[in-house]
Amino acid sequence: MTETRLPGLPAPPPPGASALPPGTFDDAVVLVTGGGTGLGKAIAAEFARLGADLVIASRKPEHLKAAHDELSALGGRVLTVACDIRDPERIAEVFDAAEAELGLPGVLINNAAANFPVPAEDISPNAWRSVVDITLTGTFFMTREFGRRHLAAGTPASIVDVGASYAWTGGPGFAHSAAAKAGVKNLVETLAVEWGPYGIQVNGLVPGLMPHEDMTADIRANLEQARHDKDDRQPALRVGAPRELGWAATFLASPYARFITGHTLVVDGANWQRRGLVSPPVVPVREQMGRGPFEG
Ligand code: NAP
Repeated sequence: MTETRLPGLPAPPPPGASALPPGTFDDAVVLVTGGGTGLGKAIAAEFARLGADLVIASRKPEHLKAAHDELSALGGRVLTVACDIRDPERIAEVFDAAEAELGLPGVLINNAAANFPVPAEDISPNAWRSVVDITLTGTFFMTREFGRRHLAAGTPASIVDVGASYAWTGGPGFAHSAAAKAGVKNLVETLAVEWGPYGIQVNGLVPGLMPHEDMTADIRANLEQARHDKDDRQPALRVGAPRELGWAATFLASPYARFITGHTLVVDGANWQRRGLVSPPVVPVREQMGRGPFEG
C-alpha cells in the first residue's frame, strides 16, 4: 500500500511578494529592535519592500552591518544604531538619532529578546535577570520612550511586540522567557487601552516554528534532533517562513488594521493549539535535556 501524503497548509507566496499595496509605508519610519538577524530582519525587510525607511537597533556591530547591507538593498534608507534595550538613556539617544536623520518612527517593532533552554531549577539569578531584563523590561523601556514622544507630539503610532505562545501555555524548559513573554502580552493589553485615546495602537505578534540562519546554537541543536520530521510535527505539515511573520507585522501596523489593538496574533499554523486524544508519557525537562539528577 502506498502512503498518501496529506497536503497540509499551502505554501506561502514566494520571497519578494508583499501582502499590502505597494507604497503602503512610503514616508513611514519603522524602528525594529534586533532587526539585524532572523525574524527581526525578515520583518524589517517586508516594511522596506512597502516603502518604509528603517531604524535598526541592537548591540552587535556585525548584526547592524548585516542589517545595513541587506536591508538598504531593498530601496529605503536604513539607519543602524548600537543599543542595548536594557539601557533607557541609550534608548533615548537612539530615538534622538532617528528623529534627526529620518524623523520620529511611527512604527515600533519590539522584536529583540533573549532565550535559551534550561530546567527551571538550574536558572542562575544572572540568567533569569538577563532574559527578563531584555525580553520584558527592555521591551517596556523601548515602548515607553516611543509612547512618550508620540504623546508629546500628538501623533498616531503603532507598536507590534513579538511574543511567544508560551505566554498563554507556560513553557517547560523556558521558565524565564515564558514568564517574560507573558509580561509582554499583558503589556500589549494594558497599553492598548491606556494609549488608544491618543491614537497609539499596541499589538502582539507570535511566530511559530520559523527556522532561520541566525538561530542560536542551543535552539538549533533542539531543532536538529527533530529535523527529519519537523514538518510532520506541525498541524500545517510544514514549518513557517519568516516572511509570513513579516507580512503579518506589516498588516498589523498598516492603515488596514487601525481598529485592531490590544490583540496578539499567532502565526504558527495552529501548532500551539495541538493536543493528542491521549497524552504522551511525561518526560521531565531535565531528562529531555539529558541532564543528570539534580544535586543541590
Ligand atoms: P534572534 O535571531 O536570536 O534575534 C534576537 C535579536 O535580538 C538579535 O538581533 C539581537 O541582536 C537582539 N538583541 C538581543 N538582546 C538585545 C539587547 N539587550 N538589546 C538590543 N538588542 C538585543 O531571535 P529570533 O529567532 O529572530 O527571534 C525574534 C523574536 O521572535 C524574539 O522576540 C523571539 O522571542 C521570538 N520568537 C521566535 C521564535 C522562532 O522560532 N525563532 C519562536 C517564538 C518567538 P544583538 O545580538 O546585535 O543585540
